[in-house]
Order: sequence, then C-alpha cells, then structure tokens
Amino acid sequence: MVRRIGILGGTFNPIHIGHLRGALEVAEQFGLDEVRLLPNALPPHREAPRVAASHRLAMVACAVAGEPALRVDDRELKRDKPSYSIDTLESLRAELAEHDQLFMLLGWDAFCGLPTWHRWEELLEHCHILVLQRPDADSDAPQVLRDLLAARSVSDPQALSGPGGQLAFVWQMPLAVSATQIRASLAEAKSVRFLVPDAVLAYIHAHGLYRA
Ligand code: ATP
Repeated sequence: MVRRIGILGGTFNPIHIGHLRGALEVAEQFGLDEVRLLPNALPPHREAPRVAASHRLAMVACAVAGEPALRVDDRELKRDKPSYSIDTLESLRAELAEHDQLFMLLGWDAFCGLPTWHRWEELLEHCHILVLQRPDADSDAPQVLRDLLAARSVSDPQALSGPGGQLAFVWQMPLAVSATQIRASLAEAKSVRFLVPDAVLAYIHAHGLYRA
C-alpha cells in the first residue's frame, strides 16, 4: 500500500482558516492519508515570531483536534536550528517506504520565495509540490521558478505520479486571510471569530496572546 502524505509548514502565528481549509481540501482532492501541519521553530526567512513556539504548536493542536485528515507534527520544533524544509523532508523520508508519496503544500507567496531556501533545488527529489492559489498574494515568480514550472509542472494535479519530482497548482476555496491581519485585529481588540477555529480563539484569549 502506497501512503500519500501532505505537509504544510508555516509559522502558524496563529493558525487560521486559510491554512486549515487549504490542507483539508487538498487531503480530500488527492485522497491523502493525512496532511501534517509543521510549525517552524526559527523560520530561516523571516523574523522570529514574538509568540512562543509552544503556543503556536498548541494552537495548531487545538485546531486539528477531532479532524482525522489533519495532524500536527512537531519535528521542526525539536530541532535546535533553523527550520530548513530539506531537513524536514529528509527526516520524513527516512520514516516512509520508498514508494510512498509526499506532497508539500505551499501558498503562492511561499512558492515565489523558494529560490532563497536552503538547498531548494533538492526539494523535489523528496516530494511533489502543490501550489495553493492565494487571493491576497501579489508576489511574482522569478524566472528560475518559471523555468522549473515549465519543466516539471503537470496541468492535471491528479496525474502526479511516483514519490515526488513534479509540481502542480491546486484550486482551493480562495480565502484572503493572513496571520498578519489576524494579529493586527487582535492588537486592536477586534474580533477574529470565524477566521480561526473557536478552540484557537479560546486559547488566544486564555493566554493573552497578541494583545497590543
Ligand atoms: P503571516 O501573515 O504571518 O505571514 P500567513 O498567514 O502567511 O502568515 P504562514 O504560517 O506564513 O501564514 O503560512 C504557512 C503556509 O500557508 C504558506 O505556504 C502560506 O503561503 C500558506 N497560506 C497562508 N495563508 C493562506 C491562505 N489564506 N490561502 C492559501 N494559503 C495560505
């Protein structure tokens, strides 16, 4: 039996419906066994989040509780170094059988930044990449990514075959939600209800997170 695993890494500061709907819709569309959400410890590409990793992890755990298609994976928080996706993929691959399929989910903005990632050209040796459209993103793909798309993308994502090596765009219900916008609303004491699961909102309030 070939296992089909999706992974979605992020700061999840906090996790919101854009992440969750994307992960769930991909799990359903591709008949994945599960999508793992991996909060990152020290994101290599951005300033360290002000909210502790333990809180970000706990919020992801609250968000996926009771949803069997989604799981939290804390391996990046256990590493005492920047969260390089290549290390994560190598560690996941070491736990899987040779023919198991790995799908890395990336929002369009994250995808456009790919060439700045550590050993980015090796990522496709371990997984397929599924790019989620993001209605609030206005990034442009650099030429090197347009070349990669021309060489490796498939127009029908269902046609992705083998353990990895290809790219595809996937459709998800467009949700122009960002953690930045949610943090800003909370800092102004505005409601973010329905943008994050109620359990996450309860956690945020219980721990006094994101207050100005
Ligand atoms: P911030 O606003 O702090 O930058 P974010 O909302 O972009 O945060 P991240 O944790 O940085 O969230 O995102 C993790 C992954 O989820 C990235 O690949 C990102 O592109 C994707 N993502 C985030 N929000 C959405 C959304 N609304 N629709 C689709 N993909 C999303």
